[in-house]
Amino acid sequence: MPALAAVLIPLLLLPLPLAEPRYRWPVAPPQVLRRFEPPPQRWLPGHRGVDLGSSPGARVRAAGDGVVVYAQALAGRGVISILHAGGLRTTYEPVTATVRTGDRVSAGGPIGALEAGHPGCPVAACLHWGLRRGDVYLDPLALLGLGRVRLLPLQTYFRKAASSGGRRSASRSYSSGLL
Ligand SMILES: [Zn+2]
Repeated sequence: MPALAAVLIPLLLLPLPLAEPRYRWPVAPPQVLRRFEPPPQRWLPGHRGVDLGSSPGARVRAAGDGVVVYAQALAGRGVISILHAGGLRTTYEPVTATVRTGDRVSAGGPIGALEAGHPGCPVAACLHWGLRRGDVYLDPLALLGLGRVRLLPLQTYFRKAASSGGRRSASRSYSSGLL
């Protein structure tokens, strides 16, 4: 028994391994092209999800463990809906489903192939990824801890990239005696 305790106690004292993140990006690499823009009133237009740029036929994966509650073409577009623990529901469109209603899926498991044709998509194909709890639409990026992420307009991005390369302007901004 003392020998067993000698093995067990150090094991119990070890920190728990980091838990796997519960939610993941549904396409890789992630490229957010349009973010969540909830309408001020539910009957007004808005953008009830995020658009992730990719290419037609790209593999779409379940963002988290759950059960497929919808996998059909809706108004000509393939739509998949997955119910997760806690009543959260993620949706994926336009996607040709490789899963069926009632299937259990795990985070990162393939659920279908991306189709082209999401309205307003500036690249070959965009996955419209949505999140709902009941009737309330939420920002799916919140699942990844990125709910407040802001997209920089491309112009700003390039200006920042260009200015960060300019060492002269950077050194001038130091006023202490460090340099
Ligand atoms: Zn969209």
